[in-house]
Amino acid sequence: MPTITCDSCRCQHPIGCNDLDWESKALEGKEDSMESTIEHHASLKMNCRVCRKKMKATFTCKEDPQNVIETTDHEAVGCIVSGNISPPSVR
Ligand SMILES: [Zn+2]
Repeated sequence: MPTITCDSCRCQHPIGCNDLDWESKALEGKEDSMESTIEHHASLKMNCRVCRKKMKATFTCKEDPQNVIETTDHEAVGCIVSGNISPPSVR
C-alpha cells in the first residue's frame, strides 16, 4: 500500500488509492483519432497524526487509449510519497 511519510517526524500514513478523489479528463488527441489519452488527477491534504504537520500531495497519472498507465507523477509538500499511486479504474 502506498504511504506518505511526514518529513518532520517520519511517521508513516498509509493511503488507499480508492480513498483519493480522482478526477479524470481526456487530453486532446490527434484529429484523426477517436482515442485520446486520459489524465487522472488526485490530491490529498491531511495533518500528520503525530505532530499535526500539514501534508499535501498531488498525483497525476496518464492513461493511454489501451488503458495502460503511461506516466505517474506526484508532488508532495511536507511529506514523502512512496509506493505506486494509480487510479482504481485501471488496476
Ligand atoms: Zn509528523
